[in-house]
Amino acid sequence: MLKGKSALVTGSTSGIGLAVASALAARGVNVMLNGFGDPVQIEALRVKLAKDHGVRVEYHGADMSRPEEIAAMMGAAAAAFGAVDILVNNAGIQFVSPVEEFPPEKWEAIIAINLVALFHTIRHAVPGMKQRKWGRIINIASAHALVASPFKSAYVAAKHGVAGLTKTIALETATSGITCNAICPGYVLTPLVQKQIPDTAKARGISEEAVVRDVLLAAQPTKQFVTVEQVAALALFLAGDEAAAITGTLQAIDGGWTAQ
Ligand code: NAD
Repeated sequence: MLKGKSALVTGSTSGIGLAVASALAARGVNVMLNGFGDPVQIEALRVKLAKDHGVRVEYHGADMSRPEEIAAMMGAAAAAFGAVDILVNNAGIQFVSPVEEFPPEKWEAIIAINLVALFHTIRHAVPGMKQRKWGRIINIASAHALVASPFKSAYVAAKHGVAGLTKTIALETATSGITCNAICPGYVLTPLVQKQIPDTAKARGISEEAVVRDVLLAAQPTKQFVTVEQVAALALFLAGDEAAAITGTLQAIDGGWTAQ
């Protein structure tokens, strides 16, 4: 039963994170949202989620590239809910470029937000989970935690790092009622993917239509984007008691991409 538990979903003002936060709220979970965006829209989202599902919804605007802001957010979540039962590490960014032209500050931002932030949220969340003898850590990784693609050196390095972190935390928490798993989606048509289409077109010297057909969906044997709802459904399953024996895994949800 998830009703009455509490969750923190990083990067939940958009895309996959928003779908996961909404799905958790719909199961009666109190949620802390995080992410960037228009403050008026975020407040409207917060109020709507709380009203629609009769749960408590909080928001914290911590920048996941800043460890001191992450610490403040984790403190606020613990103060609001007692502890974070379900931690969903979802916030992420992308940048596409050949390695020799990759701006070092972009590399560092991707590693900070897509990898280092998870170390900080996890280290703050685990003591409360251990105290309650129950916890779920769900890292939204990527098919790029399992395989590489050209021009995404920072992203692929960060997501492979998330895979290693996931397994390590699973082993460290295995006897504490806590599970730690990674979800590895293929391409999901969110703003993160929409934004990289023009850059990929430039890096490969092809049209944007060709990027969708020959690069993105070419990777997925189903020739379909994965949907945010499908990713959220998998996260819900991993959060449930039925998934108590699943820990340290990298769950592909990629239309067959990594089967090739
Ligand atoms: P998105 O751009 O729609 O959402 C990203 C979210 O992260 C937003 O809420 C944004 O505000 C937040 N965010 C970005 N930088 C932040 C920062 N510094 N601090 C706090 N929040 C920040 O992207 P999405 O596609 O929903 O991606 C979510 C996660 O899923 C990412 O980790 C991404 O790598 C992963 N993923 C996405 C796809 C895909 O095809 N879309 C595939 C595999 C994995």
